[in-house]
Amino acid sequence: MNRKYLIAGNWKMNKTPDEAAALIEEIKPLVKDATCSVVVGVPFVDLPAALTATKGTAIGVAAQNCYWEKSGAFTGEVSADMLRAMGVQYVILGHSERRTYFGDTDHTVQKRVRGALDAGLTVILCVGETLEQREEGITTEVVAMQTKIALGGVSAEEMSRVVIAYEPVWAIGTGRTATAQQANEVCAHIRDVLSGLYGAETADQALIQYGGSMNAGNAAELLAQPDVDGGLIGGASLKAADFATIVAAAK
Ligand code: PEP
Repeated sequence: MNRKYLIAGNWKMNKTPDEAAALIEEIKPLVKDATCSVVVGVPFVDLPAALTATKGTAIGVAAQNCYWEKSGAFTGEVSADMLRAMGVQYVILGHSERRTYFGDTDHTVQKRVRGALDAGLTVILCVGETLEQREEGITTEVVAMQTKIALGGVSAEEMSRVVIAYEPVWAIGTGRTATAQQANEVCAHIRDVLSGLYGAETADQALIQYGGSMNAGNAAELLAQPDVDGGLIGGASLKAADFATIVAAAK
């Protein structure tokens, strides 16, 4: 097992281009000695500013969604090819806010994953159960189903460009974090699912993050879990010092 942690910020619909550049300038010196990979996931309109501000650094830039068609009459959409053409390396797909507010389903997430991989992007694929599903005792089934459908048609080789973010919906933006044990249990289960799909070696190499109210105070414990290979960070990624503390905890 030789997995390099990935800490990714999901800025959601926050920061204008100028504000995004300013936040990256704040983050840059704080993460320059990071031993993990660091990514900022910014709104579409902030991508040029983020790419400029991160140039010459090890910080990667992610979009927060993409459409699966390459081009055409799809008003309001942005294709994976467009993102790749401008130099974006990562895309967050299947986030629970996309599923809840914008109608993303496991099958449209699968199409987005396909489009993103074909364009050469690395995908951060979000999966996770609702509180109701956890209380019904079907967390592992839900997460396995989301993972399997989203990865339909993805090859073992392509899995080197897929990161899975386990994000329990009840923990996102709520301040209610999964315990380290809960996070590890589900991340380990996702690894088992990957082992079933691709074999033990690919599963062992796969990066599986935890996301859901991870912050400067709880990151070290969550990231110390054997099957948690990093974090997808919402609220705390908008504060440079907190984000840097999480990055420093990822060793
Ligand atoms: C997220 O948006 O992916 C997330 C985990 O948000 P938060 O850290 O604010 O819970």
